[in-house]
Amino acid sequence: MKNIIPYLDLPAQYRQIQAEAEPLVLDILRSGRYVMGRQVADFEARFASFCSAKAAIAVNTGTSALHIAFLAAGIGRGDEIIAPAMTFIATLSGIDYTGARPVLVDVDPVTFTMDPAKIEAAITPRTKAICPVHLYGQCADMDPILEIARRRGLLVIEDAAQAHGAEYKGRRAGSMGVMGCFSFYPGKNLGACGEGGAVVTSDPALERTMRLLRDWGAPQKYRHDLKGFNYRLDEIQGALLRIKLQHLEDWTEGRIRVAHNYQRALADIPGVQLPIALPHNRHVYHIYPIRVADRDGLKKRLDDAGVGTGIHYPIPCHLQPCFAELGYKEGDFPVAEAIAREELSLPIYPELGAEQIRAIAALVRSSL
Ligand SMILES: *Cc1c(COP(=O)(O)O)cnc(C)c1O
Repeated sequence: MKNIIPYLDLPAQYRQIQAEAEPLVLDILRSGRYVMGRQVADFEARFASFCSAKAAIAVNTGTSALHIAFLAAGIGRGDEIIAPAMTFIATLSGIDYTGARPVLVDVDPVTFTMDPAKIEAAITPRTKAICPVHLYGQCADMDPILEIARRRGLLVIEDAAQAHGAEYKGRRAGSMGVMGCFSFYPGKNLGACGEGGAVVTSDPALERTMRLLRDWGAPQKYRHDLKGFNYRLDEIQGALLRIKLQHLEDWTEGRIRVAHNYQRALADIPGVQLPIALPHNRHVYHIYPIRVADRDGLKKRLDDAGVGTGIHYPIPCHLQPCFAELGYKEGDFPVAEAIAREELSLPIYPELGAEQIRAIAALVRSSL
């Protein structure tokens, strides 16, 4: 009785694109053009438009997207970027790669995204940018964040790796700051069949710099104007992402439907806190996070019954051993620490049926 309902079901998603994908992948294999050609350029144009941005710069991972976005903003050693304490480690790594220092703030107890009320106190003369994370698929509270940034002369660079197609007051994730960074890791709402990422921007100068940075800083072959990187995306991933992008609105509506089903099925269980989508947000439910006091116990009981779950994330960034150098300690960010103790991610994907959702809800009910 193992994983009767898996946490993720990527084969179920792949079956929907298989007929279109496989001949195209074979064409690419036979074409001899494998890296950054027509497929990648075509995907970039479509993804930019999907995000309401002028341009998308495709790269090999979401972490690379963050790295070149921060570099293009002129951030480096001696600078600071404000980021939330509850996020995937890559948000901090992208900052760290530039030599800048991540300065963390706590998250909001309702939405789990960066708490704008905590930003002001974290600003120092070294602060260059704010990097809100649209965690679990819901946009951070961008208006106050953009207002603080405007008033204090800071850039806003969005980590939208979990929020393809999410909206805040009608604006798309990735289009509100000067740059928005996405990941196409397979399990993301838009996932490659391998690795991928992108930065979107409507600023032509930043776009130019990032196109250089991802490909050895070279405007022409073997002339390197910037110290760049090999962060290129390959043609097969570009083609597969373009095919999947055509399904993304449907898949997102499917995720929202599953979330609403969970909301109904789990609503009256005492001790379970369900995710809250603020009315001005389009939450795209990359993750369906519930909160319960005995998280580990519930996880084990679901696991024993064959329901896969996840924890996002069991250790908040300020307590990660690899960032001990930042000097944070337990108690610094109590909301992030409570989420790390109590958050449990239930399976969520468009293919998850009403029957399965009822079964999961019944298990949660009987396990508490
Ligand atoms: C997945 C993720 C990233 C990094 O993306 P990769 O493609 O795995 O490098 C960055 N930030 C957040 C919030 C993520 O969830």
